[in-house]
Amino acid sequence: MKTLRGDRRFWGMVFSVLVIPLPLLAQDWESQILQVPQPDSCRATLFRLTEEPHVAGTEEGYRVVQYIQNRLQAFGLQPEIVAYDVYLPYPRTVRLTVTRPDSFVGPTPETGFPMDKDSYASNVFPGFNAYSPDGEAQGQVVYVNYGRPEDYETLRRLGVDVRGKIVLARYGKVFRGVKAKVAEENGAVGLLIYSDPADDGYMKGDIYPDGPYRPEFGVQRGSIQYMFLYPGDPLTPGVAATGEAKRIDPAEAENLPAIPTLPISYGDARRILQHLGGPNVPQHWQGGLPFAYHTGPGAAEVSIEVKMDYQIRPIWNVIAKIPGSQYPDQWVVVGNHHDAWTYGAVDPSSGTTVVLEAARTLAALVKQGYRPRRTIVFAFWDGEEYGLLGSTEWVEAHRDFLRKNAVAYVNIDVGVAGKNFGASATPGLKLLIQDILARVNDPKNGRPLLEQVWRTQNKKKKQLPPGLFTRDSLYLRFGHLGSGSDYTAFFDHAGVPSLSMGFGGPYGVYHAIYDNFYWMSHFGDPEFLYHAAMARIAALTAHRLANAEIVPFDIAQYAREMLKHAEKLQKTFGEEGVPEDMHLGGIIETCRNWLDEARALGGLSDLPADLNRDIVNEMIMEIERLFLSERGLPGRPWYKHQLFAPGLYTGYAARAYPGIFYFMKRKDWDKLAAEIALVQERLARALQKTRELRELLQSAGKN
Ligand SMILES: [Zn+2]
Repeated sequence: MKTLRGDRRFWGMVFSVLVIPLPLLAQDWESQILQVPQPDSCRATLFRLTEEPHVAGTEEGYRVVQYIQNRLQAFGLQPEIVAYDVYLPYPRTVRLTVTRPDSFVGPTPETGFPMDKDSYASNVFPGFNAYSPDGEAQGQVVYVNYGRPEDYETLRRLGVDVRGKIVLARYGKVFRGVKAKVAEENGAVGLLIYSDPADDGYMKGDIYPDGPYRPEFGVQRGSIQYMFLYPGDPLTPGVAATGEAKRIDPAEAENLPAIPTLPISYGDARRILQHLGGPNVPQHWQGGLPFAYHTGPGAAEVSIEVKMDYQIRPIWNVIAKIPGSQYPDQWVVVGNHHDAWTYGAVDPSSGTTVVLEAARTLAALVKQGYRPRRTIVFAFWDGEEYGLLGSTEWVEAHRDFLRKNAVAYVNIDVGVAGKNFGASATPGLKLLIQDILARVNDPKNGRPLLEQVWRTQNKKKKQLPPGLFTRDSLYLRFGHLGSGSDYTAFFDHAGVPSLSMGFGGPYGVYHAIYDNFYWMSHFGDPEFLYHAAMARIAALTAHRLANAEIVPFDIAQYAREMLKHAEKLQKTFGEEGVPEDMHLGGIIETCRNWLDEARALGGLSDLPADLNRDIVNEMIMEIERLFLSERGLPGRPWYKHQLFAPGLYTGYAARAYPGIFYFMKRKDWDKLAAEIALVQERLARALQKTRELRELLQSAGKN
């Protein structure tokens, strides 16, 4: 037999295969996407984004907007700036005075450290809580732990009355706006929120600048807008805050808080805390300061003064698109905010860097002929820190279009604070995240992130599950979407399947002046390897969503989670005194049937060639929308999604079946029964849609 060995033509062929660039050879876009993102590029971007503090609506903020615009243009995209006019307060006076037993006028400014030039900035806003009303409050102080409803319950049992007092709450557990709402509901006249060293200070590890945790005078700025009622511009609920939009009076805006509120450091809080009388606190209320905490009131008396400059100010989103070749109207949106309380190295600029790097990656592919089937939209939101302003107004402006056409929203806020990958998502997109993690390696050891994340989540198990890389089912645990970032309007208001992801870490300088380039390059991601990895994840996720023949939405996981949540909620009915004839049996059964149908559907990767993909995709994309109801949730009509919402008393954490939970807690049995029927009807529609899809596939010859 004659072989080709030694034949010049053979070696010529081998040689030509080796030198032909990859894209011409196989259009292996995924491999290319993994190669483009680079740590050096990310470092340079983050450096530019964090040059100055850049609060929403400021000149410095606009310089960041221009930088983002210029970068996108350099990539070959055509960005546009989309402005809205929103009700935005800047601090004029924030004063904390301790009048008794010592006298002290603060708050103390954040300390400058010689190795970190940024920590000396004079153009940074002092510690303040955005949307605190103007006002003064004075009097004795009561310590309320995390300031949750159950904490005030404990105080009542201890016989401590907070009415007419200033309450001192520590940061953590719930969104700070919830602390303001609960303080108001309990009759407090003012609120101080401080960062306890037990929560993100020296009890966690070394403090800045020796370590990543919050130092003595580090203060957490932040909004206390009642976003759990509705986020976005307070004066234009439900509609975009354009120039001509109708605005309500600030006095009518339900998401504006009522009592003067001020954030302080533990350096200042200890001056108050150590002079509180009253009983000793329950053990789990004790924080990290070196004395036994008391509830108060007592010797300590303080006054708070807050004066804001409230005005309608412009904010600027930046939007750039890679048009889809086959379905230009179907949008995959990848976004993050660009406004920051200070320099915002972690929050938000690590995420902004990642989205820019993902845009650079996909735009580079476009130059080589890459044409995604669906349109990829890169979005850089303004005013997130104030109350998700830019994203909410944009979604409100495009609500009908997005409800009909948006395939998914991918959010990457706090893209990198360390090395631990985490994500929250609609149940339908969790399997996609797992799939992506199988393809991207952990920079630390070169192993697939899927393996790393599984090991972190299953510390006690030694053996990897045999099916881990087979894409057959979900092996990783991801959270639910509550609130606290820009996916809120997409998911809760417009029903767009959404996910939010990033690398977490020892992030003790949240919303402090130390969230800057020095922190990132010493503690967060010194080599910017995780920024590059996150950009690979973001670009690959956008690519898969935009290019998949069948939209990667996992109906079975949705059914599975709704079943689990219904069973869990049913268990609490007894404790809440719900009448025995009222139960979630109907919802549980519907979820079981839905899960069976979804399982019977099987994987959607081997569809018959003549089956119309457009119809299949349309049916899949409708599932999430079935859970929207125009009337919204009880007490908060802006929130349209009936299966998930931020908890009214958690603010960040998600609540499943929020309407049912609401009436159960209020012990309103008639309304509870109606709510159960409404939710069950929605789930039944999802079951029906899934059944139709299975029947369609069956008649087309699948299985
Ligand atoms: Zn953020």
